[in-house]
Amino acid sequence: PHTPVSVLGLGLMGTALASALIKAGHPTTVWNRTESKTGPLVAQGAVPAATARDAITAGGPVIVCLTTNDNVRALLAPEAEALAGRTLVNLTNGTPGQARELADWAAAHGITYLDGGIMAVPQMIATPGAYILYSGADEAAFEAHRPTLAALADTKWVGKDPGLAALYDISLLTGMNGMALGVAQAFALIGSAGIPARDFAPLLRDWVVAMTDGLVPGAAEAIDTDRHVTDVSNLAMNREAHPNFLRTYADQGLRTDLFEPLQDLLDRAVAEGHGADGFSRLSTLLKQD
Ligand code: NDP
Repeated sequence: PHTPVSVLGLGLMGTALASALIKAGHPTTVWNRTESKTGPLVAQGAVPAATARDAITAGGPVIVCLTTNDNVRALLAPEAEALAGRTLVNLTNGTPGQARELADWAAAHGITYLDGGIMAVPQMIATPGAYILYSGADEAAFEAHRPTLAALADTKWVGKDPGLAALYDISLLTGMNGMALGVAQAFALIGSAGIPARDFAPLLRDWVVAMTDGLVPGAAEAIDTDRHVTDVSNLAMNREAHPNFLRTYADQGLRTDLFEPLQDLLDRAVAEGHGADGFSRLSTLLKQD
């Protein structure tokens, strides 16, 4: 017998989540603001709910996946009584602060709150490699629902502070965004000479993967031991080299503003006496004064 589950929000992601639950054999109730989006899921065996409240009271954990946490708050504020005594799993992207606020609201109404960060696109749901980060005050509730949540993606528990799943999520996506910016500048630069991106792509891909493999574990060790001195590539040298990067962008007709902040950071690192350190030092310079 599979646990019943309800899914509120059937956008690209919510639809993938509901579909995975149905395929895993869970009786699945679905609700969406725009009712027509329930159609494909009903064809797969989902039960459509006429209202969010009907979906909430259908039984089992309630999974919500809307555009923003403001949407979640607006939808669920009038449903606190219906949610009391139930588990709410919020897989909407948001900030750690928003997750903590929702957790406080839930606790005040006797609702068990789990926050989640989905590390996958909809097409990756229920496939190997996809995972969802979870946090919340009630770890036992997470463990109880883990077999159900495992139908969506691998589950990674990150702690009892409800904001932690969002913090992990945004930290991981920050690494990705930084890479995406670098890749964008690299393609623009090589393209400025008329070289097709697809010809350059294998070199860029292998380079970024190799550098990431070396940089991430090395930086972690340096940060945790607070020993940033390097015999590989120090900040003083990189500070002298970086103007060549910016000049090349400008000479090739590209904007330089994306990478000017790196020059500022390198200047500051050297001015503060960290010239012999490696790139790991930069993360210590990012705190607001
Ligand atoms: P979509 O734009 O496809 O879907 C948004 C959903 O939110 C729709 O079901 C929409 O309803 C609903 N919604 C928005 N506002 C309200 C509201 N005020 N009241 C009720 N329902 C509302 O987005 P996704 O499904 O792609 O994303 C959903 C969440 O998942 C986001 O937080 C996103 O960041 C996160 N996420 C998405 C990933 C992706 O690759 N797509 C990856 C990881 C996380 P309606 O149909 O009526 O408009």
